[in-house]
Amino acid sequence: MELQTETGCATSLEIRGPSTRAVHGGAERHNPYHAVVPPIVQTATYAFRDTVDLIAFQEARQWGAAGGRVDYGRYGNPTVAALEARVAALEGAEAAAAFSSGMAAVTAILFASLRSGAHLIVTEDAYRRTRQFVLQFLRRFGVEATVVPIGDFEALEAAIRPNTRLIFTETPTNPYLRVMDLERLAEIARRRRIRTVVDATFATPINLRPLDYGIDLVIHSATKYLSGHNDVMAGVVAGSADLIAGLREMQAMIGGILDPHAAYLVLRGLKTLALRVHRQNENGMRVAEFLSAHPRIRRVWYPGLPSHPDHAVACRLMRGFGGVVTFEVAADREGTSRFIDALRIPYIAPSLGGVESLIEQPALMSYYEMDPEERSAIGITDNLVRLSLGIEDPDDLLADLEQALARLP
Ligand code: PLP
Repeated sequence: MELQTETGCATSLEIRGPSTRAVHGGAERHNPYHAVVPPIVQTATYAFRDTVDLIAFQEARQWGAAGGRVDYGRYGNPTVAALEARVAALEGAEAAAAFSSGMAAVTAILFASLRSGAHLIVTEDAYRRTRQFVLQFLRRFGVEATVVPIGDFEALEAAIRPNTRLIFTETPTNPYLRVMDLERLAEIARRRRIRTVVDATFATPINLRPLDYGIDLVIHSATKYLSGHNDVMAGVVAGSADLIAGLREMQAMIGGILDPHAAYLVLRGLKTLALRVHRQNENGMRVAEFLSAHPRIRRVWYPGLPSHPDHAVACRLMRGFGGVVTFEVAADREGTSRFIDALRIPYIAPSLGGVESLIEQPALMSYYEMDPEERSAIGITDNLVRLSLGIEDPDDLLADLEQALARLP
């Protein structure tokens, strides 16, 4: 990252640290009105001084030389652009694009990358709505998909067809926090000339930067850790300038743009991303170790534990293991609910990654409408719990878990 000096000359200082990038990455040093914080430019359209100005803009745009100027809100916004530059700096990407939600970003990538007759590969344990979009919706448009287990590279290679255009994976996954070996994935995909997309919502660029391992596009539900306060919905994608330009073309048609006020909230949240994620990593590790040793807990999934199937991969690729811990309580569905109801700190709510701890029993939340057989086929048992840790003090969280578990028979 280059910093502009008062004289307008670029200094050679290269900012490498994730905390510094979270605060300064991609930022213009000089904002309107000398404001330190980029303003919220709340406008739906942009005016021209006169028709000469308009024609100059049209000509410049035709030659790709409009210098970021746009004429309408769906094509860009300075507050959103400030967020995109920050995300690109954090991910080590050439460019980034922001969307109105994580799902708007996922669907825009899939629409932009695929056409009728194409095939894609998705990994198991993907976000429920992503799976639904890929397996049900895209099928209606003549796009076929194969689901492969994470970590099974033989199955992955065997699933590749001449028309395979995309491999879409998540890491860590939800709810079992499986960690994909991105180096191996990128090697296979490059050799077979297939685009790779990683939804790294659970990782954050503090813990993992997929592009460093050769992945083409990284995507986040910024609703989660990036904004971090459970108060805004957003999605971001980062990658090469070329791929992001293609995505912007798609966004110009299908919409799904981020509102400038929401962009400001995400940008504000990002400034403390590194601080928050470090605390959430600490809370994740402490809680996972505590639960693993507790007699009323049957099993714990956390990539920081040696018992996790992807512990070795996580140690190699990740700088922290995240703030989500998944576990099975030694109880039936009602007993598990009683334990959750007895907790005083976490809210019972979907989502994750915010400063407030959130807890859910997936069988009663995202998978409620499925019958028990369907649920158990995809590994969602009645006593499964997903705990997304916030930034509360670890000792308080452990004391809360202890008192709630003590109520179980
Ligand atoms: N990707 C993952 C891993 C998620 O957990 C979610 C939402 O829970 C999404 C994408 C969708 O993001 P959003 O809710 O911001 O649309």
